[in-house]
Parts: sequence; structure tokens; C-alpha cells
Amino acid sequence: MILGCHVSFSNEQVLGSAKDAVTYGANAFMFYTGAPQNTLRKELNPEYIKEFHSYIKTHGIEIEHIVCHAPYIINLANKNDLSKWQFSIQFLKNEILRCEMMGITKIVLHPGSAVGISKSEGLQNIIDALNLVIREDQTCQILLETMAGKGNECGSNLEEIKIILEGVHEKKLMGVCLDTCHLHDAGYDLADFDAFLDLFDQEIGLDLIGCIHINDSKNELGAHKDRHENIGFGKLGFQILHDICYSEKLKKVPKILETPFIGVDAEDKKRVYPPYRFEIQMIRNQIFDPSLYDHIRDYFSKEP
Ligand code: FE
Ligand code: FE
Ligand code: ZN
Repeated sequence: MILGCHVSFSNEQVLGSAKDAVTYGANAFMFYTGAPQNTLRKELNPEYIKEFHSYIKTHGIEIEHIVCHAPYIINLANKNDLSKWQFSIQFLKNEILRCEMMGITKIVLHPGSAVGISKSEGLQNIIDALNLVIREDQTCQILLETMAGKGNECGSNLEEIKIILEGVHEKKLMGVCLDTCHLHDAGYDLADFDAFLDLFDQEIGLDLIGCIHINDSKNELGAHKDRHENIGFGKLGFQILHDICYSEKLKKVPKILETPFIGVDAEDKKRVYPPYRFEIQMIRNQIFDPSLYDHIRDYFSKEP
């Protein structure tokens, strides 16, 4: 199974991300090239990139199983402030170039939020923007993430994702990133995942799925909230997420956890630790572990 998680980019850039992934027992991972909420970016270090490629080779991670996530302040849907829209376009262009410098083949993008305009205008703005962003000789594919439908988010149903995909000229450079928490919050019942995949195949095509975010959800089906929960501790539950991970049809698709960090004690909100090595292990063991939080706290409380 191609299973990994979100990792940081702060030490040794993409080389450090790969090292983190390996310590979690991951054979896939996702990173932001800087803070997700801003667009300040450090220059890429070619030494790290070179070492990264040999590192993933020796650790059996394939380059196609590594994805970048565009910062979520990029908003291609809203053109009310033209300079902001143009900035988003320019930034995404640069981010794609940075991916290509690292050899990264996929970048996940939130389609955008149609604030103060209709959804259909928003979708058209996204299409126009993507057609300005994408270069003919581009090698990095853009994966539109399915959204929870919070506020005016575009892309919270398959129809909207389809409209965007149909409007983009360079179709081979487009794909989709499913997010289980978002789909559930958007109202898609994943209890019958095969039925969902059939629907997706009819509307869009299974071969366009380039990545899947595996998250439990804190909220009820259709809540439009977007609050991720640890695997098995939310409203989706372990079995559904397990079955998605082991789905034959998505065997070749990298699965990425974006679940919340765990606090060692309830008082200290700053001391939070990544749950990933434990969740990856649990999914691979195929049995829900109700004491997962205890194991995580035990493990990290022993760290200096
Ligand atoms: Fe996302
Ligand atoms: Fe996600
Ligand atoms: Zn989310």
C-alpha cells in the first residue's frame, strides 16, 4: 500500500521531508514548500534536491508518490481584487516551477472560494486562471482537491470539479485529489465506497485520481465543516477508512494522512506531536487501536 502523511519542509527542505516520512514508516508523503498560510518561500537548495533523489531511491519511495500542496491562500476563484487574483496565478506558476526543479510530479490545489460572487462565476475564474497558469511543456500535474463546502468553497461536489476539468485546455496536466474528510463533510456517504467510486468514474474517470487524503472527520455527514480527526476516532470510523486504503481500484494512488497532532497533556497546547507513525502502523495492521492516543503520549513523553 502506498501510504504516507503530511511532513514538514523546514529542515533540509524536500530532503528533510523525505527523512521525516521514512521515520514514520511512510512510502509516500506530502509537503508545503513553506508555511501553508503564506507565500514566503526560501530559495531551493540544489544540494538537498540531489541528495533527496538518492535518498528516496535507497528508501524505496517513488517520486510519483510524493506530492506538493499549494498554499491555501491561493484563491483562483475570486477576481474582485484583480491584483490578488493575478498574484495567485503568478504564485501558483512559481510553485509549479519549484516542484519541477525538485522533480515533483503532482501539486494539490484547493480550487478556490467564490466570496461575494456566484459559484458559476467562481468556477469560470478558476478555469481562466488555470489556463493562464499551465504551460504547454509543464511536467507537474495539478490535482484539484475535493472540498468540504465550507462557506463559498468551489469544488465541493463532483459536478463542480468536472466543470473545472472540462474548462482547462491542457487536460493531461489535470487530475483530482480526493479527501475523505471533505467528501464526508460535503455529503458523500463513503460507507459504500465502491458506489462512490462508480459515481466518480461515471462523472470524471477513476484514472484522474492522483492522490487521496485519508482523514477521519469530527463532524456528521454533510456538515460542511472541514475538521479532520485521527483515524478511527471520528464520524467516518476505522472500517470505512481502512476499506478505502485497501481499495483495489486505488491501489496505485498515494494515500496521505493529514490528521491532527496529539497533545501530550491537555494543559499544554504547544506540545503536540505527529500521530502518523502510529496511524500508519494501525492501518497496516488492519485493526483499530482504541489506545492509540496512549501509545502516542507514552512514546513522546519519553523524548527529551
Ligand atoms: Fe488540502
Ligand atoms: Fe486534504
Ligand atoms: Zn481539510
